[in-house]
Amino acid sequence: MTPAAVPHRQRRHYQPVVLIDTGEIVGSEALIRWRHPTRGLVMPAEFIRMAEETGQIVELGRWVLDRACTQWRAWADQGHASHRLSVNVSARQLQEAGFADEVRSVLLRHDMTPAALVLELTESIFALDRPKILDQLTAIRDLGVRLAVDDFGTGYSSLSYLQQFPIDEVKVDKSFVDGLGSGNADDGALANAIVSMAHSLRLEVVAEGIERVAQRDELWSMGCGLGQGYLYSRPVPPEELLRLLTLAKPLGNPSTTGNPSTTSGGARVSRLQTPAPIVRLHQASVDASTHPKSATPPRAADSTSK
Ligand code: C2E
Ligand code: MG
Ligand code: MG
Repeated sequence: MTPAAVPHRQRRHYQPVVLIDTGEIVGSEALIRWRHPTRGLVMPAEFIRMAEETGQIVELGRWVLDRACTQWRAWADQGHASHRLSVNVSARQLQEAGFADEVRSVLLRHDMTPAALVLELTESIFALDRPKILDQLTAIRDLGVRLAVDDFGTGYSSLSYLQQFPIDEVKVDKSFVDGLGSGNADDGALANAIVSMAHSLRLEVVAEGIERVAQRDELWSMGCGLGQGYLYSRPVPPEELLRLLTLAKPLGNPSTTGNPSTTSGGARVSRLQTPAPIVRLHQASVDASTHPKSATPPRAADSTSK
């Protein structure tokens, strides 16, 4: 039996997305797991491809989006309404004519602030029927929902889509982060180029797969404002994510290189002593449906006063 056929066996874990300079959690990414009757938790690498091939990803994705937004509502009711929730969306889901309507319904159903939802797309969608995908993404973007390109730099070869489609953020793939912090400038060249390009296009940048302090520090010095990775936290069950939010304790131990001085949201935080990058954290408010490319980005130091 496929995982899509047994949705009650699905679990979502949530991995924090943090401000790199302070370690504050600003959002999280929903990551699906399959609770197998005998094998325990099965990771998505083992079943997402099959679900895509059979088309069951459409039903599975619908269910993940609904359950993740249910979770967001629970966090919002506990004082975390500015938390940004990222959900992975498969190309197959985007090809469904009614997908934008489904997103609208889920927002209404859970009374969710549109700008608090980030849909993560893979570059493969940009090789699909351009007018259809553009219509779909524009309709979603018009709701005020944010769009991110996941695993950026690993897929489609033309970058012009970054200007042609209403994209808000790019997620630098872990493969570009792996070599950072080695002391060899060549290892960071691609990550640096991606961060610079994203900034010149006024896109927000999130680095994926940060595992070491040296990687974090190099990303910060490049101007990358947001990060995700085991250095901060592995994906955790929703109760644990709520605990982390409630503690409001910085993740990733920024004080190892930082300047412990700032108070934010009641928690004492530290800042890395390197140049402040552009971070365009959008307030989770209804007026955020304005296209961000027309907005002037605040600097990182301002973005923590959420
Ligand atoms: P992704 O969206 O790029 O998610 C990031 C993956 O990297 C997650 O793996 C996460 O656990 C892992 N990761 C995060 N930080 C680190 C780190 O510091 N080191 C290492 N080694 N790994 C790290 P996961 O949960 O196994 O998910 C794998 C992929 O499966 C996801 O990659 C995404 O493409 C797909 N996926 C997960 N959930 C869904 C879903 O609900 N829908 C769809 N369509 N795809 C999903
Ligand atoms: Mg993702
Ligand atoms: Mg990724």
